[in-house]
Amino acid sequence: MIKSVFDTYETVKEKRLKDRFFKHNTIVDLVNQLPADFEIKELGQSVKGKSINLVKYGNGFTKIMLWSQMHGDEATGTMALFDLFNFLQSNHPLAQLISEKCQLFILPMVNPDGAEVFTRRNSQQIDINRDFLKEVSPEAKVLKQCRAAIKPDFGFNLHDQVTLWSVTGTLKPATLSFLAPAFDEELNINETRKNAMLVIADMFSDLDQLLPKHIGLFDDEFEPRAFGDNFQKAGTSTILIEAGGYTNDYEKQEIRKHYFIAILSGLFSIATKSYSQQDLKNYFVIPKNNKQIFHVLIHGIVLDGIEVSIGINYEECPSSNGCSTFKTYSIQDIGDLSFCDAYQNYSSPSLSLNGNITLYQPANFELLDGDKTILSFENGNLLFKKD
Ligand SMILES: [Zn+2]
Repeated sequence: MIKSVFDTYETVKEKRLKDRFFKHNTIVDLVNQLPADFEIKELGQSVKGKSINLVKYGNGFTKIMLWSQMHGDEATGTMALFDLFNFLQSNHPLAQLISEKCQLFILPMVNPDGAEVFTRRNSQQIDINRDFLKEVSPEAKVLKQCRAAIKPDFGFNLHDQVTLWSVTGTLKPATLSFLAPAFDEELNINETRKNAMLVIADMFSDLDQLLPKHIGLFDDEFEPRAFGDNFQKAGTSTILIEAGGYTNDYEKQEIRKHYFIAILSGLFSIATKSYSQQDLKNYFVIPKNNKQIFHVLIHGIVLDGIEVSIGINYEECPSSNGCSTFKTYSIQDIGDLSFCDAYQNYSSPSLSLNGNITLYQPANFELLDGDKTILSFENGNLLFKKD
């Protein structure tokens, strides 16, 4: 059933969202164009007066709340939600099933001010997902009140993670990561959390076929200020989805497709109650996230008379208009990195390097293969890369 949606994804993809930099006005336009069976309600406003909207859909018994982009620069979940809105308008039997069995409560951009400038935090410089207890941000208040009013059975907490997480045992980027967040320091499992784990086990079994070796379990740690942990504590079986990296997918369009399918797989599990037949051990066999990849890895370079590998990562900063990012590359490891992988690997006996390699300093060198430059950086900026 899920595979058929994957194969025809282009028919439901929301094509007006084509990179990570869409803003609140686009989201509002899209929400306002939804047909009448989607009920729209403004729940409140961001610090800068942008509406935070709730989209309600379906007439079923099981209440499911989904919210995205609490972190303004984490746009993948929002794109996937608009793909979901299109899918729900199709005549696919799964769309019918969801509308009969579930009531969806969807907040497709919790932090519009952050999205405007493409930053994680809101315009008060507050991380909304660390503001559950204090509620100093209006965005946190809206989200907290929304859950308290609806009391959903299930929650989907939709985020993006840094692209440097990999999957233990595979050396591949953790393109998607899942977690049933803990509700206490001891990481206990009660009925609420167990149901979230069982749904994730269903999601993993679907997604692992479509994206083998690229799915991990997010770090299991209790964060008393975070929403997922507190929603779990309040009795909503909460599922965290994190979008990570995928080779050459800087705008996360390939990732978004799998992310949408992951949400759909979770909704299918809940709508059919198939999770109740799952075995908890299938949650714990999902490989954990770790950090064994780099953005760029160069092997076999002689530095001061010793042969080493060099691991280089970039940090992304938003440009002033919030509509693009620039990357700053720095040296993050030197030595035996034979147990690691990267988005881009360079290893050839004819490699040589001109420039200065200093740990934690901006990349500032030229990499040659024979007498040809194949990669060059100046003060952390990528100047040239041979394709
Ligand atoms: Zn996040």
